[in-house]
Amino acid sequence: MNNSSISNTELPQLATIWQETTDWCPTELQQVRLQSLYTAVITANQQLNLTRITEPAEFWEKHLWDSIRGIGELIKIPSALKVIDIGTGAGFPGLPLAIARTDWQLTLVDSTAKKVGFISSTAPELGLTNVHPVVSRIEDVGQDRQHRHRYDLALIRAVASVNVCAEYALPLVKIGGTAILYRGNWTQEEADLLELAVAKLGGEISKIDRFNTPLSDSIRHCIYLHKIADTHPYYPRAVGIPTQKPL
Ligand code: SAM
Repeated sequence: MNNSSISNTELPQLATIWQETTDWCPTELQQVRLQSLYTAVITANQQLNLTRITEPAEFWEKHLWDSIRGIGELIKIPSALKVIDIGTGAGFPGLPLAIARTDWQLTLVDSTAKKVGFISSTAPELGLTNVHPVVSRIEDVGQDRQHRHRYDLALIRAVASVNVCAEYALPLVKIGGTAILYRGNWTQEEADLLELAVAKLGGEISKIDRFNTPLSDSIRHCIYLHKIADTHPYYPRAVGIPTQKPL
C-alpha cells in the first residue's frame, strides 16, 4: 500500500493485550510516545523508505509489540541495563525499549546514515535522552574498545542469518550478559549452526522462547545467548567476512 493512502494514523491502544501477553503495559506518557514514534516513522517514510509496515495495527504488532515481547521478562528487571541494538533500521527494537525503560541506556547502530539520522532527530522529539545513535558497520563496532564487552544486553532483529547475528552480537556483550536474536521460524538446522558458532564466540544458547503474535498469530522465536567467556579478538572478523564466510 502507498503511504499516502493511509488515512488513519492512530495506533490501537490494546492495553489488555499488552497486559496479557507481555510483562509490560504502557503508561499514558509511554502511549503518547509510542504514538509519536509511529507518526514520525510514517511521516519520514515518504522520503526515507524506512519500513513497509505502515498500517496502524500491523505497525503496533510487528514493530512495537514485537520489540517489547522479544526480551520477555527482562523488560521488568529492576536494574538499569546497558543495551545495544544491532542493525536497528528505523529503531526497532531499540526505540520502543527506550520508551519502556527510560532508565536504560540504549546504543542503536546501523550502517545506513539516513536511518540513524531519523533516530537522532526522533529520539529527542519523543523526549528520550537514553538513546545513543551510531552510524557504523557492526564489525567495526565489535572491535572498538568503547563498545566491545561493554553491554548487558545485545539485540538483533532481521539483520542476517543466525550464526552471522551471533558473530555480530556476542563480542559486544560482557561476561554474564545476554544476546537475544529475534527470529521468525526456527529450524533444527539453524540450531545446529548456531551451537557451533556460539561455542567459538564465548557463548552458549541459554533459552529458546517461542511465542505467537497476538493479532496475526505469526510464529516468533527469540534465541537467548549467555556470554560465558571473553570473545577471542579474532571476532568479529573484518567488514563483510561474517556474511561471506559464516561461522
Ligand atoms: N532491526 C530493524 C527491524 O527489525 O525493523 C531493521 C531490520 S533491516 C531488515 C536490517 C538493518 O540492518 C538495515 O537497516 C541494515 O542497514 C542493517 N545492517 C545490516 N548489516 C549491518 C552491519 N554489518 N552493520 C550495521 N548495520 C547493518
